[in-house]
Formats: sequence, structure tokens, C-alpha cells
Amino acid sequence: MTQTSQGPATRAALPILLTVDDDPAVSRAVARDLRRRYGQDNRVVRAGSGAEALEALNEIKLRGGRVAAVLADYRMPEMDGIEFLEQAMDLFPRARRALLTAYADTDAAIAAINVVDVDHYLLKPWEPPEEKLYPVVDEMIASYLAEPDPEVVETKVVGHRWSAPSFAAREFLARNAVPYRWFSVDEPEGTRLLQAAGVDGSTLPVVVPPDGTPLVAPSTTELAGAVGLSTTPATDFYDLVVVGGGPAGLGAAVYGASEGLRTLLVEREATGGQAGQSSRIENYLGFPDGVSGSQLTDRARRQAARFGAEILTTRDVTRLRVNGPARVVSFGDGSEVAAHAVVVATGVSYRALDAPGVADLSGRGVYYGSASTEAEDCAGRDVFIVGGANSAGQAAVFFSRVAGSVTLLVRGETLERSMSHYLVEQLRGIGNVSVRLCTVVDEVHGDGHLEALTLRHVPSRTSEKVGGSHLFVFIGAQPRTDWLDGVLARDEHGFLLTGPDLLVDRRRPRGWALDRDPWPLESSTPGVFVAGDVRADSVKRVASAVGEGAMAVTLVHRYLGTP
Ligand SMILES: Cc1cc2nc3c(=O)[nH]c(=O)nc-3n(C[C@H](O)[C@H](O)[C@H](O)COP(=O)(O)OP(=O)(O)OC[C@H]3O[C@@H](n4cnc5c(N)ncnc54)[C@H](O)[C@@H]3O)c2cc1C
Repeated sequence: MTQTSQGPATRAALPILLTVDDDPAVSRAVARDLRRRYGQDNRVVRAGSGAEALEALNEIKLRGGRVAAVLADYRMPEMDGIEFLEQAMDLFPRARRALLTAYADTDAAIAAINVVDVDHYLLKPWEPPEEKLYPVVDEMIASYLAEPDPEVVETKVVGHRWSAPSFAAREFLARNAVPYRWFSVDEPEGTRLLQAAGVDGSTLPVVVPPDGTPLVAPSTTELAGAVGLSTTPATDFYDLVVVGGGPAGLGAAVYGASEGLRTLLVEREATGGQAGQSSRIENYLGFPDGVSGSQLTDRARRQAARFGAEILTTRDVTRLRVNGPARVVSFGDGSEVAAHAVVVATGVSYRALDAPGVADLSGRGVYYGSASTEAEDCAGRDVFIVGGANSAGQAAVFFSRVAGSVTLLVRGETLERSMSHYLVEQLRGIGNVSVRLCTVVDEVHGDGHLEALTLRHVPSRTSEKVGGSHLFVFIGAQPRTDWLDGVLARDEHGFLLTGPDLLVDRRRPRGWALDRDPWPLESSTPGVFVAGDVRADSVKRVASAVGEGAMAVTLVHRYLGTP
């Protein structure tokens, strides 16, 4: 494809005029005349054959461009203009279409025009263009602009509504604050994108980043790389490596980098951690009207990056070891980075709901956390939320704004025991929220997606099957610290012990070689600090996690012997 009228990057957003002719001289002449009159407000693209033009259209579709008009020569070898326009219509149905014909072909062309939906035909040569070409193209552009295609410059995700991998891709992009547009495989634009990508849709999702290179069922690491998230460390040695990108890790990264430490933050999924999934945090200092968790943590991520912290996503730290003065962390693929000091801020993960059917329908109606990407789809539907703590209460408030009904399923006898007073009061004032106490989920049902739940009222031992399309699970969380077994001291639940908690009968932890006790937040390995929810006896709050992240950095400085 030869492209003319190229200009600055912003020109990519202009509507495109595409012309295709197998005669290079004619092709150049059309492009020249079009460029002269329309080059300011349009991009002119020319191709030398139908196949080449279709390839260009596929690329334009994948990059989210808009095609205002297509001018095709009638008589071309292999694929004539009519055939080409027919196929072009499949990809860009709103683009206006014109056929260029020689005088001798007029009758054949007119006959063909009646068969396919072509707006105009133009006789070659069209001199002077002011009389014979521009009036027609003016009309084509005006008619297109009266009803143009929406411009889609962001990443496009084509998937199936009830598919766990499609859900995972959307969730990943949302949690990493990557703008994207969702297209169901059943809708026409979804089908067009698949056609442009040259795939049949049997494997989904198909993700098309702004550069237009389609990815079929990408792994999160592939997806991260394609949308510009960093996945590989820039170097192999840092002052500080922070493991975990929740509030505690982000806090450590902001303070570490802003105080001059070469800081690497490694996050397994998406920065933000649990807080990033909270629909509204009402009690974080400085936000009298509350703030959504994703907004808060997205700002923190940008702040850390602005101070120079390097942030890796989709990298799982699987091992920590001591190598002399260095602390070495390994990734799932066996690669390693080393640092003078490490902050472990790996938080906690949701506990799984143990009931038949849940595993199968996970991501297809059953979700862990608030899954804000699902909000739109909950409109008017019956939503169930399992859990009695603040996180479940926040989710109930959030979904009540769109759902037909929200039912909170609580194992305990009262809500007050597990949920903050302000939330209980808020829920009481919402008409479409109801609470079922002493109730557990016995089973979930559905063919391909959630359709019903069997609920059991524990005291009366009665069960009931109720219809529902969405179930959000908030039933507590546990630290995932198995990878630190035998490396750092943990309590019986897997939380990491720090500072004075490590002293047993005033004796320092086994293997501790320094002539001092572990500092607060310091683990059983000197130079490895722990911050946030993963720390034994920590306060499970955003503010305390951020505070511990900051405090850990102060201790890192002390450990490194710097002020
Ligand atoms: C829905 C919900 C609502 C909440 N609402 C509030 C509220 O209103 N107010 C409040 O104060 N608190 C609230 N909380 C609690 C608060 O979010 C947590 O206390 C806080 O997020 C803890 O931060 P953290 O950084 O210690 O851990 P997390 O937020 O759990 O972050 C840990 C991060 O580490 C990553 N990680 C784990 N293991 C590894 C590994 N091996 N390698 C790399 N990365 C890893 C995880 O993917 C995660 O991103 C809420 C929690 C939830 C779930």
C-alpha cells in the first residue's frame, strides 16, 4: 500500500479516502487530485489492486480508523471494482462508494451498480476535477459525515459475554487503567474486527491494541506488553525491590523513589491490589466525598512512576534468597533481580467459595471482588453478594445503582457485627437491597453462565432455589506466602512475622546474625521488610498499608546506613 498525505500523528484520526486502481498513472492522478482538495481534513490512501486495498482496509479497521469514501476502478485483474466494493462494504458499511469506469465499460458498470449498493460512478478521465470529480466526492464525504463511524482509538476487546478468558482480559485492562472498548462477538462490529484480524472467532478473546496488531487469547504478560505495560526489569540490581503493587507496595515505591532509591516494584496482576477493586473508599484521609479504589491507586501508580520507580506488571515473584549482602528475588520464569533491600507487600487474596458449580461458573456470572467491569451488564438484573464485611457492603451499594435487586447473603446473625455502622445505615436506606442473614450458598447452577443459586437458611435448614445472573463473593482473604516458607518466619495462618513478634523468650529468630533485634516491620531476614495486610496483626486498611509502605522505606534507609 502506498500512502499519501501523511502528516503528524494526529492525522491518523482523520477520515480516510481510499482509492484503488491497477494503473499506477491513474492511481497517482486520483490521489493527487483528492489530496489537493481534501488533504487538509482527510487522509488519502491509495492501493494498486483490490487485494492490496482490502489489506489496507483491514489494517485501518484494526487501528480504529474511519473510512469516509472508497473510489475503485471497475476493470482490475483478479478482483474487479464491484467485487472489491462488496467486500469493502463488509468492513466499512458506512463508507460511501464510487466506481471509476472507462467510457466503454459504462453499461456493464451501471448494470453491476444495480446489483451492489454503489453510490456513484465516475467516468475516466475526470478532467477538470472541479466539474467531474469534486462535486461527487463532496457529496460522498458530506453524506458520510452526516452519519460517521465512531472513532475507536483505544484497545479493542472482542469476546464472548459469558467467557471467563474474555472477562479476565477486560478485568486486567480495567485494573491497569488501560482504556479499552468491548465488542461482543455477536455484534456486527465485533464480527468485522474478527474479519479484519483474519480469525474465525473460535478462540476468544481477540485483543487489538491501538497499533492494530491483533492478539488471540493472549496471556496477561502478552497483553501487558502489547498495551505498553512494562514486564521486564531494565537492570538486574536495584537499591530496593518492592514485591506487590497494592497500597503498601505503591506507598513504598513512592517514598523509595522520591527519596532517591533505585526502586523496582513487581506486581503479579495489576497495581492497586484489593484497594483497586473497592468501588468506594469512604474513610481514606483527605477524601471527604470518598474515592473509588481504582482512582486512588491509579494516581499512586502514576506518582510512583513520576518519581522514577520502575513498575513491572504480570510478574509473579516466586522466590526470595539471600546472597551475601544482596537480596535476590526470582520470577516465575526463573529470571532474577537483586537489591540491597526488599519490601514484601503482597497483601491477601480472596478466599474461594466452596460450593458445587462455583469453579465452573467463575468469570461467567460468579466473580471474586466487585468486578466493576460487570456493572453495565447487571442493569435491571438480580445480583447476589456473599459476605458481611465492609467490602460486601460497598459492593451492594455500588450495584444497587444499576441492578434490579441486590441480595446480600450473610452467614452471621447480624450485619452490625461485621460491617461499619455507616454502611449498615446506608444499606437500610436503599430500596432494592435486601439482606438474608444466617444464609449460605449451597450450590450454583447454570449452563455456560450463572442462572440460579440454591440458598440454605442455616437455623431452619430450609433450602430455596432462586434465579440470579451475578454472584459477587467477598468472604475474607488469606495471605499467599507459601513461596516464603522456610525463608521468612510466618504465623500459623501464613502472615509474616516482623519486629518484636519475632522474639521468642527474647531470643532472636533462627539464623539472625546481626547484633541487634529486628526493627519494626523487619522480617526474620535482615534487610527484608514487610508492609500492609500480609504482615501478621496488621490493620487491614488502606491508610495503614500506605503508612507501613512509607515507614518501611525509612527503615530501608536506616538499614543501608543512609540518613
Ligand atoms: C472490596 C474491598 C473494599 C475495601 N474497602 C476499604 C475501605 O473502604 N477502606 C479501607 O481502609 N480499606 C478497605 N479495604 C481493605 C484495603 O483494600 C486493604 O487493607 C489494602 O488494600 C491492603 O493493601 P496491601 O498493599 O497490603 O495489599 P493488597 O491490596 O492485597 O495488595 C497486594 C498486591 O500484591 C500482589 N502480589 C501478591 N503476591 C505477589 C507476588 N508473589 N508477586 C508479585 N505480586 C504479588 C497482589 O497481586 C496485590 O496487587 C477494602 C478491601 C476490599 C477487597
